[in-house]
Amino acid sequence: MQAAPIVPEALALPRRAPAVEGPRSLIGLARPALAAALVEAGVAPEQAAMRAGQVWAWIYQRGVRDFEAMSNLGRDLRARLAERFTLARPEVVARQVSADGTRKYLIRVAGGGEIETVYIPETDRGTLCVSSQIGCTLTCTFCHTGTQRLVRNLTAEEIVAQILVARDDLGDWGRTPVEKRLVSNVVLMGMGEPLYNFDSVRDAMRIAMDGAGLALSRRRITLSTSGVVPEIARVGEEIGCLLAISFHATTDAVRDTLVPINRKWNIAALLDACRAYPRLSNAERITFEYVMLKGVNDSDADARRLVKLIAGIPAKINLIPFNPWPGAPYERSDPDRIEAFGRIVNRAGYASPVRTPRGEDIMAACGQLKSASERVRRATAGAGSAA
Ligand code: SAH
Ligand code: SF4
Repeated sequence: MQAAPIVPEALALPRRAPAVEGPRSLIGLARPALAAALVEAGVAPEQAAMRAGQVWAWIYQRGVRDFEAMSNLGRDLRARLAERFTLARPEVVARQVSADGTRKYLIRVAGGGEIETVYIPETDRGTLCVSSQIGCTLTCTFCHTGTQRLVRNLTAEEIVAQILVARDDLGDWGRTPVEKRLVSNVVLMGMGEPLYNFDSVRDAMRIAMDGAGLALSRRRITLSTSGVVPEIARVGEEIGCLLAISFHATTDAVRDTLVPINRKWNIAALLDACRAYPRLSNAERITFEYVMLKGVNDSDADARRLVKLIAGIPAKINLIPFNPWPGAPYERSDPDRIEAFGRIVNRAGYASPVRTPRGEDIMAACGQLKSASERVRRATAGAGSAA
């Protein structure tokens, strides 16, 4: 198999969203910035924090899109807000519902890019899989998103807006207690590498966790990274959510091909960062994601190496049957192989749930996301030439 190229550093730099004409959105502003915006609209500075609290509750508890509905603000203030600001959502270009209830939204963002957001209903929770970038600079050879070039990083507004769009569509506003909500959990496992867009992801998740707003507890948010080692500790320190690692291989030789960022930060460096992860405990274990690729990384020897490598780390192993996409160079491991692998991991004391593929009929399953507008393979990516 031809190796995928390592990412040029420059591609990992944040790219700015294009300036947008028209009224400014209040979505995605931190509270102090929201208060400052209200002062611009004529609110007395000594009242700004109180008014910002009211507007915040309308936006994030009630999901209102129209300033006119903010009945505890005076009529004049509502009119001034409507002149200057907007609560409009980004455009949902396509919405698909899978036979299993999974919903996929194709969302157009400023500048013409498109992202995908996936809602996965389960019996005890509803998980929203959120994107952090348009495309991805990384080129993991089993991932559909990895075949799409990075267009840019998403802003905090665009990340938060994905949650609002899904809750609008699901009619999920005003439900109490939190457990009754349809969107009860968020995973940063959509398009993109969240740790190459750390600040916007952090700012968005702080809004998602704010108790007087979306009020998702930090334990209901999971950030998945392919292994951007220098940023991993910040997830615990600055967001405090749960961490998932896209591990996928037990030798550097195989991981170098599957997850090319491994050539920059190898397995040993990645596991050092996991061992040093702030907040690591049995109650807050790291999830190791492991995509099951037939004949590539799914042997008994792999399973045994895996448990040896992660020894001492409070962890669970999430086995993900490979989800195919057009032109993918891999096959899914057989169910009995996945089971045998899981048994070895399990016997070593780690929970090893197999992730049921969801939304496959609408290409919404893990690693299948890729904007419909972007079908052209990166000429430089090597996956297409693999077996
Ligand atoms: N970029 C981040 C988060 C998005 S990917 C990361 O890589 O962690 C979310 C998960 O889906 C990752 O574990 C990823 O490795 C996995 N994945 C990607 N393509 C897949 C595929 N075709 N089948 C199954 N899982 C896949
Ligand atoms: Fe990017 Fe994650 Fe896909 Fe790798 S698996 S290409 S890091 S989205």
